Amino acid sequence: MSRWILVAEDEPALGEMLCDNLALESYHAEHVLTGPQALERMARGGIDLLILDVMLPGCDGFEVLRQLRGRGDHTPVLILSARSADRDRIRGLELQADDYLPKPFNLRELLLRVDNLLRRSAPPGPGTDLLDFGGNRVDFRTMRARTRTGEDVELTATETKLLKLLAAHRGTVVSRKIVVEHLFGSQAALTVRTLDNVVLRLRKLFEPDPTAPRHLLTVRGLGLRFDG
Ligand code: CA
Repeated sequence: MSRWILVAEDEPALGEMLCDNLALESYHAEHVLTGPQALERMARGGIDLLILDVMLPGCDGFEVLRQLRGRGDHTPVLILSARSADRDRIRGLELQADDYLPKPFNLRELLLRVDNLLRRSAPPGPGTDLLDFGGNRVDFRTMRARTRTGEDVELTATETKLLKLLAAHRGTVVSRKIVVEHLFGSQAALTVRTLDNVVLRLRKLFEPDPTAPRHLLTVRGLGLRFDG
């Protein structure tokens, strides 16, 4: 599964260069220019790693990080800073940044650090082919599941992808837009309806009471959330 990276960098050329290079490494990369934009984008969910410049308009990177951690968002954060003073590095680490790279940086080093952070946090991948919740077991590799009543069922590729995406962001809301893009690509038009149908079938399979779901939750106006 491709990972989503948000780059918060107010220097347009640098932000674009980073996104281009991340895309070459097969990541999905998005770019925002200000602190508030970064917070707003993170709130919509679905981001696996944030590359965060310190000097940003609106509110600086430290403030973005403080607010993220304050609202319980533990997405890995790599801080980029032109200010290489120890004080800044320590401040970032105090605010629970996961890594810190002073500018100017070596691009290869940045990409390696990104890869390391994602590997450390990686929920999907080998060894996590199984998802257990509420007495159900899903095997992502074979796209089969055994429900809490002992029934063996086959899942479609879309159902498997949706469960995998939501499980990778367990406990946090993933916006419908992100889900739709992830499942169907951005061109799809009839996809909100399709998504609803996918969610309905998964609830029928895995929820004791599909009308009062405990695992596959719709958060009105925001998106979907998986609680394991
Ligand atoms: Ca800056």
